[in-house]
Amino acid sequence: MADTIHIDGHPISPDHYINGRRVTSTETFETFCPVDQKVLGKISAGLDEHVDAAVGAAQAAFPGWAALGAAGRLPYLERFAEEIGKREEALALAEANDAGVLLSRMRHGIVPRAMLNITWFAKEALTLQDRVIETAQAIHQVRHDPAGICAIITPWNSPLMLATWKAGPALASGNTVVIKPPEWAPLTTSLLADAADAAGLPPGVFNVVQGMGATTGARLVSDPRLARISFTGSVPTAKLVASAAAANLVPCSLELGGKSPFIVLADADLDAAAATGALMYRNAGQVCLAGTRFLVHESIRDAFVEKMRAVVANLVVGDPRDPATEVGPIIHPRQVERVAGFVERAKAAGATTLWGGERHDFGPQYFQPTMFCDVSNDAEIVQQEVFGPVLVMQSFASDEEAIALANSTVYGLGGICYGEQDHAQAVADQVRTGFIWINSFTIRDLAAPFGGRGQSGVGREGGEWSFDFFCDVKDVITPKHPFKASFAHR
Ligand code: NAD
Repeated sequence: MADTIHIDGHPISPDHYINGRRVTSTETFETFCPVDQKVLGKISAGLDEHVDAAVGAAQAAFPGWAALGAAGRLPYLERFAEEIGKREEALALAEANDAGVLLSRMRHGIVPRAMLNITWFAKEALTLQDRVIETAQAIHQVRHDPAGICAIITPWNSPLMLATWKAGPALASGNTVVIKPPEWAPLTTSLLADAADAAGLPPGVFNVVQGMGATTGARLVSDPRLARISFTGSVPTAKLVASAAAANLVPCSLELGGKSPFIVLADADLDAAAATGALMYRNAGQVCLAGTRFLVHESIRDAFVEKMRAVVANLVVGDPRDPATEVGPIIHPRQVERVAGFVERAKAAGATTLWGGERHDFGPQYFQPTMFCDVSNDAEIVQQEVFGPVLVMQSFASDEEAIALANSTVYGLGGICYGEQDHAQAVADQVRTGFIWINSFTIRDLAAPFGGRGQSGVGREGGEWSFDFFCDVKDVITPKHPFKASFAHR
């Protein structure tokens, strides 16, 4: 049994949310603040019975929710978004406290985006059944039937944004959901359940079961009643999830890690590139889509290094709850050790440290914004995702070399290319990733596709791609002329 958690006076339930009710567990785990290691509270850990009950509730609620149609669901989902908005401060403080995300970014970026993730898809779903293909012989009405019960598994680096990014289209298209939030940052998903409850979502439509990945998560993804699994997290976990899904032939969408290139061409605006470059330290580098592998044209390499060094030197590292802070903590001591291991091995392999390279004296879970160079392309620091404030820089002599380097890892999530527009476009077109920003970063529109290639993921979410994933597409065919039955007919 766990007590209600209070974050700056905002109460947060430690319990699961199953079938419209809070459900407590005999087993708990602790969540703590990465800034000062203060324990925030104990969280109910999902046992098999909780997972089974949540999937059962989602199964029972599915026919009624699906039958409402998109127009019938819209008012519920608009109220859901409103209730998220009413909890803006609690949500912002919760994620700043348990995940170390900047409070300012939570307030101004992520909470409004979480609301939009719900309302945008809810409105967009109104037109889902409008697609008609007309040929000389028939009218094909393309139906998007909701698939059923969707499991949603999220990572700790952006749990609120990712839970709503997946639940938004799933619910809007008539599915019911069971969310398993990350064990290192569960609080905002619990608040999301409060918002769903206050909005009057029918019991069982929206369920949350907290717990460890290897037990609660594994139980959820192996449930044969699931129709879809939407997972965001690491590559090793994705392989376990995909195996469990394969055992029941459940389609899964996998949004995974990356080692995305940040290309700076000779004709780039170096000040703009350096300012954007420093943003790669946002969330202490714990951002899947960050450009963590800098590829800089040799002719401007020294000038770029000095410009970016100057921007990075002024970054404010500190408490994410302080509005002045730009770079916060690393989520967990285990992740700090992982980052430190990459740094030690890069140094041992002979990498030069351009800046940083040590733990930061703000606290035990802080690392200096770091940049390495002078490494071979097969070095671990070039090839593997660190998921911390540690970047690497290589230089190139030609566009062909830049493209070859950009495409030389197992990943293929995103990319950034700074340069004169046509030149940058020509290079960007040849980079094998799911998306690439030209002279910009993090512009994301809900109508656009998002996802990765190679080890960065399987499938696309966003806009119509989310609906294609969360729905079973059906063709209803009506002939234009009377149909004559014939065995000779094709
Ligand atoms: P992780 O794979 O360790 O955990 C992700 C989630 O999976 C957690 O909720 C965890 O409890 C659960 N889980 C663990 N084992 C499981 C199992 N056997 N069955 C079912 N669920 C299980 O990832 P993480 O460390 O929380 O997140 C960091 C990773 O996520 C990084 O690699 C990052 O790049 C990636 N990420 C990708 C995107 C994207 O959109 N592509 C976005 C954010 C993060």
